[in-house]
Amino acid sequence: MTEAVALRGLEEFQEISDVSDATHEYTVAWFDSFGGRNARGIFFRGNHAAIAARAKKRRALRLPLAPFAPLLNPLSVRAFNAAYYRASQHRQPHAQHYDPFFYPLDAIANWNVAYGRRGFVQYQCVIPIAAGVEPLAEILDRTARSRMASFLTVIKKFADVESPGILSFPRPGTTLCLDFAAKSAALLPMRETFDAIVAAAGPYALQRLQALRRVVETFRERPDLPAVLKGPMPAALKSLKGLTQMGGDSGAYRMLLFAGDHPVLPVNAAVERTARRLGYGAGGARDFRQSAQNVRDAVARELPATSAAHRTAYVYLAHHGVTICKQADPECPICPLKAECPGRKAIVAGVGGA
Ligand code: SF4
Repeated sequence: MTEAVALRGLEEFQEISDVSDATHEYTVAWFDSFGGRNARGIFFRGNHAAIAARAKKRRALRLPLAPFAPLLNPLSVRAFNAAYYRASQHRQPHAQHYDPFFYPLDAIANWNVAYGRRGFVQYQCVIPIAAGVEPLAEILDRTARSRMASFLTVIKKFADVESPGILSFPRPGTTLCLDFAAKSAALLPMRETFDAIVAAAGPYALQRLQALRRVVETFRERPDLPAVLKGPMPAALKSLKGLTQMGGDSGAYRMLLFAGDHPVLPVNAAVERTARRLGYGAGGARDFRQSAQNVRDAVARELPATSAAHRTAYVYLAHHGVTICKQADPECPICPLKAECPGRKAIVAGVGGA
């Protein structure tokens, strides 16, 4: 069973990926390389189907001739990205054959000829989680500014599993993969810049220490930060969003709630899903950020405006979302909320509730 969720930017990728790690066996995201760090993207996730799924294996197309010039230029890649983004969203889990899920490029049997006679160059790196999103954001920004279209821009998380392979290099972290047609002299200096960014992220053993140091330094450099956090919320939120180690909106809202004592609901993917299934802020959101805000607004209408009430709501919703109300196979039969949950009917009927 697979689904494809629209997202925007690396921080949203991190949030969806963090939650999906607990609920899905396979995850990967595609990004539009022209958008830099805030690019639109699609997060694909899947589990083996518990039921016999009748998804058909596809038949691959074939490009007629090996062209002299690459078919993949900035114009055609832009058009492809727009069409792919529109066509790939399937928020509801659906049965899919493993072949197109694991090998989407093989929809075209000889896809490599689209790069022209000189082929393509692939740049792949892995950045430790503790380094935050900034190194990858910098690489994505530079790719977008270069206007050298990366036809396939893929981001995924590597888990802490040792590979038995000789050439594979997975290690805990976030990996980025970019494919460029091998036609521009600017590729080499760009690769060197990317290498420098990856090297600056530092050796793995030092990453956690560096992250901790950054937090300490931030608070040392900003002695006003504790007071700002407890002050008016718009200013506090603005300050927090400027900190690279914050890790997205839900990290900033967690700080506002737990350190700043503001009555706000942090909404990560588990909270968003659970609240939406329970009928809070359901429907009509164009992306995760909008859906999170809908949930925040709907919950705020019913909760007392105290930080204690919001802390309790956050802890219960987040815990329920990763233990019972999971993305794949929510445990509705044993859920204590099943009698009052509007999302349950859709899940049982297999028509919604993603
Ligand atoms: S009944 Fe099902 S969908 Fe509703 S909250 Fe419980 S687990 Fe989630």
